[in-house]
Amino acid sequence: MSERYAERGVDEKAPDVGELTPPDRTLMGPGPSDVHPRVYRAMMAPVVGYLDDFYVEVMDDVQAGLRYLFRTDNEHTFAVTGTGSAAMETAFGNLVEPGETVLVPDNGYFGDRMGQVAERAGGDVVTVDAPWGEPLDPAAVEAAFDEHQPTVFGFVHGETSTGVQQANVDELTDIAHTHDAYVVGDTVASLGGAPFHTDEWGVDVVYSGSQKCLSAPPGASPITFSERAVEKIRSRESQPRSWYLDFDGVWEYWGDERNYHHTGPISTMYALRESLRLVSEEGIAEMWDRHERVAGALKAGVEAMGLSLNVAPDYWLPTPNPVTVPDGVDDGVVIERLMDEHGIEIVGGLGALAGEIFRVGCMGHSARPGKVTQFVSAFGSVLADEGAAVDVEAGAGAVARALGGDE
Ligand code: PLP
Repeated sequence: MSERYAERGVDEKAPDVGELTPPDRTLMGPGPSDVHPRVYRAMMAPVVGYLDDFYVEVMDDVQAGLRYLFRTDNEHTFAVTGTGSAAMETAFGNLVEPGETVLVPDNGYFGDRMGQVAERAGGDVVTVDAPWGEPLDPAAVEAAFDEHQPTVFGFVHGETSTGVQQANVDELTDIAHTHDAYVVGDTVASLGGAPFHTDEWGVDVVYSGSQKCLSAPPGASPITFSERAVEKIRSRESQPRSWYLDFDGVWEYWGDERNYHHTGPISTMYALRESLRLVSEEGIAEMWDRHERVAGALKAGVEAMGLSLNVAPDYWLPTPNPVTVPDGVDDGVVIERLMDEHGIEIVGGLGALAGEIFRVGCMGHSARPGKVTQFVSAFGSVLADEGAAVDVEAGAGAVARALGGDE
């Protein structure tokens, strides 16, 4: 210890922190999913300045990859610095002006979060109801529009808390546009894992996350704005409340000007760029197919074992799967044993579904045949050991049959 500082009382002992050695996990919860090895490698590339020509090219590549992933030609497409919730705040915080009426869904945890975010943006939040476990019915959305006349409507394409995929998105956007409103879509748990067509369906703002279907770490979240949405934002009477997530400020950095707004998260953006390269190499349609096929094997496995998914086949979202907890079994014990004995992460239900379902993710680099095969066997054996009436062999056999020739 330097005497100079010892005299000033700086004599505390530095904390003795050990080397960073994360445990070996298979991430099959609702995210993050396993990160692809190529994405890890990309993160080891040297950090450059946030306006280095090289980094500007990285940003260009990310924007091109995101337009492909979102199925959009929107110019205003970029990655928010932060997780999916930061992208949610960017969407609502810029689109909603104080006093505007915002319609959000009441059928899941993340629809509820949308409402909280919209309220902090100054919006008057109203809801359109559907039971947890079911998507919004266009007729109910129409009725909510007639009753409340919202100017902004948010929906969740893949509701992680229930495993429900919102169907009829184009019908919902038609209803909103007929009422001159703007539509925000949450695809944090679905982009890349289930078909989503931003332009074809006319969704004005769509956001997502990097840590689920994209096999990247959390921290850089895709977002895209239609011209119509940008015009609304640019004609605001009051500034957005957040400086950091202000659309125009952030676009100074991502648009043609390339001016400093905040320091780009360089290594995280390298990761996203690599994950988008993987999307392009696989092809978006093939990626949707893979998620459906591999999660379909998971579904076949748990059903053959004697369990069920807590979602109707028509609304099934292949990414976070809601597997019902069998009678007499403590879900917390099963989750803990899977982690301790097999290194596999899954989680329990949220809100109304706590104790009722396990949430089993099949996303990104975790949506692979080997992972699902491993999961169904381990899950079955832990459940059987906990006294559940499950047929472990039937489960494993069904997975193998569903995967057919897949390696
Ligand atoms: N929306 C949905 C549908 C999600 O599943 C999540 C996270 O799981 C979020 C929003 C929030 O994203 P994050 O936790 O990355 O901030």
